[in-house]
Amino acid sequence: MVLEEKWILCPVCVNKTRLRIREDTVLENSPLFCPKCKQETIITVRQFNISVIKEPDAKTQSR
Ligand SMILES: [Zn+2]
Repeated sequence: MVLEEKWILCPVCVNKTRLRIREDTVLENSPLFCPKCKQETIITVRQFNISVIKEPDAKTQSR
């Protein structure tokens, strides 16, 4: 039996993070750090269903 794997995308910049999940991966309020935008998001994962619990402060946008 081969389990499917997926890379978690950063909810902020939609880049690949270093966190990989499998079909049976269950995460609860787990911090996800993005090496690209250096933001940390709290996520919950269940059967490839990724929900963002807490998004970082997007008040200061550098653009
Ligand atoms: Zn990011």
